[in-house]
Amino acid sequence: MKRLSIGLRLTLWYLVIFALGEVVFGVGMWFILRDSVFDMVDDDIETQVDDLSNLLATQANDVSVSTLQALMKEAYGSEHWGDYLAIYTGDGQTLYQSVFLQSNSLLMAPQAVQKTIYTSREIRGQHFRFTFQRLSSNGRTYVVEAGLPADDAFGTLRLFRSYLFWFAPLLLLIAAGGGYWISRRALAPVDALVRTARAVSGTDLSTRLEKLHTGDELQRLSDTLNEMLDRIEAAFSRVTQFTADASHELRTPVSLIRTEAELSLRRSRSQTEYQDSLRHILLEAERTSALIEQLLSLARADSGRETLQLHPVELSAVLQGVADAWQQVAAIRDLRFSTNLPDSDAWVAGDENLLRRVADILLDNAFKYTAAPGSVSLSLEAREHSAAITIQDSGIGIPQDEQGKIFERFYRVDKSRTRAQGGNGLGLSIAQWIVSQHHGSIAVESRPAEGSTFRVELPTMASPARNPQPA
Ligand code: ADP
Repeated sequence: MKRLSIGLRLTLWYLVIFALGEVVFGVGMWFILRDSVFDMVDDDIETQVDDLSNLLATQANDVSVSTLQALMKEAYGSEHWGDYLAIYTGDGQTLYQSVFLQSNSLLMAPQAVQKTIYTSREIRGQHFRFTFQRLSSNGRTYVVEAGLPADDAFGTLRLFRSYLFWFAPLLLLIAAGGGYWISRRALAPVDALVRTARAVSGTDLSTRLEKLHTGDELQRLSDTLNEMLDRIEAAFSRVTQFTADASHELRTPVSLIRTEAELSLRRSRSQTEYQDSLRHILLEAERTSALIEQLLSLARADSGRETLQLHPVELSAVLQGVADAWQQVAAIRDLRFSTNLPDSDAWVAGDENLLRRVADILLDNAFKYTAAPGSVSLSLEAREHSAAITIQDSGIGIPQDEQGKIFERFYRVDKSRTRAQGGNGLGLSIAQWIVSQHHGSIAVESRPAEGSTFRVELPTMASPARNPQPA
């Protein structure tokens, strides 16, 4: 079922609460008004009853019933107030009873009246307030039945009731209209946000939601959505840039392979020439697969699907293994390669293959950018909570203003020279990603023509031998 809009729901809630308020207010006011108009009539009755009580008090306690009857007739027979009055002795003998009450008697057994009662009665279409009460005077008890017409009081109540019945729905209608208008006004920015959000698409991520200055939740919402769009746009343009750079990088080796093959096939050649061409093609193919491998690593890293196999890894052993493999390269390239890998028990929670890859990338660079007879060194320094791997070379160095950029993807200080050495500008960005996944840091210090020092810091853990895992 389609849910109602927030504006409509707010209006309905507003209406329900307002209607409840109206009912509570109306009923409360009606009771208060009724009590006060009845009180006014009852006060008048009470004054008359007080007068009667005073009159009875003047009578001796042995006065006869007939004397009292004569007295009452004289006092009330011609009085207007006596029209709705009846007086009885405590045991039920009538002392006085108005003509009206003779034909419309309300008290069947006057002696049954025990406590004071005020009540409303409708007699022959006319409204009255009556009281029934027991009076004690000079040791005798009397029962009084006294009333007054209360048509005015009932008229006031009727008028109030009709005002309520007419005005309440009208007020409710006005409140509903007002509530709807207020909620529409309050939610109008949401509509604007929705309209702009619809305009944002994959091809145009530059659109931003209108900046609100309402200082409320809606402004926070639009600011947050805009920040999110900023991040999405940045991520999107990184991906687009990466795809463009990757295609560009792949185009070069592929066209080299193609040109080499085309040239070789243009005419028949000697076996040595064919072998030379195939060697070139093989070299480019190897570079291409290395590049594809690196691109895949970065793509997996970006997608968050590259899962790290974290185990306790002892760094000096790992680095020793890497160094051994590079000794041969050093010998071939006529470079001095020294290591300082103390048996230091530097354990890190890490992925051994990836850590080895970081060392390989940094050593590969050091060897690539150092000409014979230069030197390269690899050292490890273990501290209390961290370990530092330092790879130093005496190579070409990196200009100061380029040092911040070399960790960017595809960035190469000297494009043509680097390519000749097999570089594609991805090694350091992969190394940086691996180090950050191990919660470490990587930094460079370098001077052109003097050499470079790359330093990787990794947080270490307690040796697993000292804290054996429970079996
Ligand atoms: P590449 O595969 O091109 O070496 P990297 O990301 O590993 O890619 O390095 C980026 C750039 O940084 C390199 O192209 C090179 O210009 C510079 N660079 C990296 N390491 C060194 C180094 N040890 N000595 C001099 N320049 C270096």
